[in-house]
Amino acid sequence: MDGSYCVDGAKGEKQVLTKETSRRKFIQVMGGGIAAIAFSGLSGCAPKQPGSTEVARTIECDVLVVGGGAAGVTAAGAAAGQGKKTILIEKLNALNGSSSLALGTLYGAGTKLQQAAGIEDAPDKLLEYFLSRGGDKLDYEVQKFCADHYGETIDWLSEDLKVPFVETVSLKGKDTVPRGHNLDPAAVVALDAVTELAKKNSVEFHFSTAAKSLVVNESSTVEGIVAQNHEGEYIQYKAKKVIMASGGFCRNAEMIKQYCPDYKGVYTEVGLGCTGEGLTMGLDIGADYIGHGGTNGILACAVSAGQSKLISTKALWIDSSGNRFANEGGQTHDIYYEVAHFPDQSFYAIYDQAMVDALDEKLKHQFDLGLEMGIFAKGNTVAEAAKALNIDGAIVEESLSAYNAMVATGTDNQFGKNSKLLVPIKEAPFYLLTLGVCTHGSFGGYRVNTDFQVLDPKGDPLPNLYAVGEVSCGTFIYDDYPSGGCGLNWSYTSGRFAGKNAAEAIEA
Ligand SMILES: Cc1cc2nc3c(=O)[nH]c(=O)nc-3n(C[C@H](O)[C@H](O)[C@H](O)COP(=O)(O)OP(=O)(O)OC[C@H]3O[C@@H](n4cnc5c(N)ncnc54)[C@H](O)[C@@H]3O)c2cc1C
Repeated sequence: MDGSYCVDGAKGEKQVLTKETSRRKFIQVMGGGIAAIAFSGLSGCAPKQPGSTEVARTIECDVLVVGGGAAGVTAAGAAAGQGKKTILIEKLNALNGSSSLALGTLYGAGTKLQQAAGIEDAPDKLLEYFLSRGGDKLDYEVQKFCADHYGETIDWLSEDLKVPFVETVSLKGKDTVPRGHNLDPAAVVALDAVTELAKKNSVEFHFSTAAKSLVVNESSTVEGIVAQNHEGEYIQYKAKKVIMASGGFCRNAEMIKQYCPDYKGVYTEVGLGCTGEGLTMGLDIGADYIGHGGTNGILACAVSAGQSKLISTKALWIDSSGNRFANEGGQTHDIYYEVAHFPDQSFYAIYDQAMVDALDEKLKHQFDLGLEMGIFAKGNTVAEAAKALNIDGAIVEESLSAYNAMVATGTDNQFGKNSKLLVPIKEAPFYLLTLGVCTHGSFGGYRVNTDFQVLDPKGDPLPNLYAVGEVSCGTFIYDDYPSGGCGLNWSYTSGRFAGKNAAEAIEA
């Protein structure tokens, strides 16, 4: 009978709850086998059986935030800014979620940065774009909320928090208006700024503390969290409001298989803590899941993190059968999706010596590393290089000749690559570079409303539970990424509003 807890029963008698006891009374926790139950009567109640888990102490607060990424830290700062005692628990020993690793684009319209760059734009135009990118299949109010507030969030970061952005606002996704606001030099500068604000507002950060289960009372109202710290101690956080900000689930192979099967097995670069249990514990108490199987991804190269510049759009790209398969200069997300479905989830770029000679020192170093690792190959002919990677040399020879013949005409009549990218690949020796795909996030999780309250399948809020950031981004993103910058802005915007909403909803 592992996972037993002793609680006061309705008439004051002691009860032992086991895994078999009704889900209404407790929630089984991923991995740990402990049960989350009503707080009443826990103190002084010793576990009855070997293997059961004892809660060592209780910590009370107004707002408890789970997860220290952009969404969680922003939410915590906003809640504390309303004068509420706010604690943020983070299972790692530092703020190392995807938000600290991100490149740093935020998507939004009607910003001061756009105005300064002479770009005419407004939230209603952004709404049209979101609706054209799958948003029409989702809750209209949420799409409108994002279009209305994303620009405001960028202004809040740049004007109020003085977060540095580069002046140029860039074109992203399939959009025709420049709306990509790029943090300078990277996303971490925004995370640092909201962390400063949260500290200034007296948020308590409890690191190395992992949420294990939500605590609900007899009427299914969330009353807090059971968490475990690095010493293995279980702590109850009794809170008036809980904000789940635990990020995505790309590091949980089972959850990817279940919710995003198209991306099964794809390598990931997300934060180490993005393992999905923050979502599972809410689904266990009746939260609704929303997601349509999509993930946020890029093309990747094993010798450098992020989308390496070695993935040159001027190269010819082939699959493992030796055939060209895409417009190398096309939409990254479309190619990412295609490659994720290849049996080896790999593709190969063909370089000639002229291309290698044009690499800068840093890229040349990475290139040499790839050769050393055996993931890049060199040959006097392209067939020889292909053979070294177990690809049919004759087919590769044919693909390259056809490509060069097409380049000579100046028009890609196969996939429509921009003529500026059509460069002959003729100068021996030749090289093949093994490339692949990589996830940067998952598009599925809690269904929330525009107050960021977690909803059940009927659309009713689960009392006292909010969700922000990637763990709820399936509410806003359908299956395809609308544009670079939508992940971070969903996190900062949902955090900003949810923190304030949760604090304001606490009765004085
Ligand atoms: C390399 C990379 C580049 C990217 N670039 C961009 C970009 O330029 N623009 C953009 O819009 N998006 C980008 N993204 C996506 C974007 O970074 C994420 O969507 C966003 O940062 C998610 O923020 P978050 O706060 O929801 O989650 P995270 O930042 O991942 O934070 C979640 C936190 O919760 C913690 N946690 C998880 N479970 C628990 C638990 N049980 N108890 C306690 N803590 C827990 C985790 O350890 C983690 O620290 C990028 C992603 C990656 C990986």
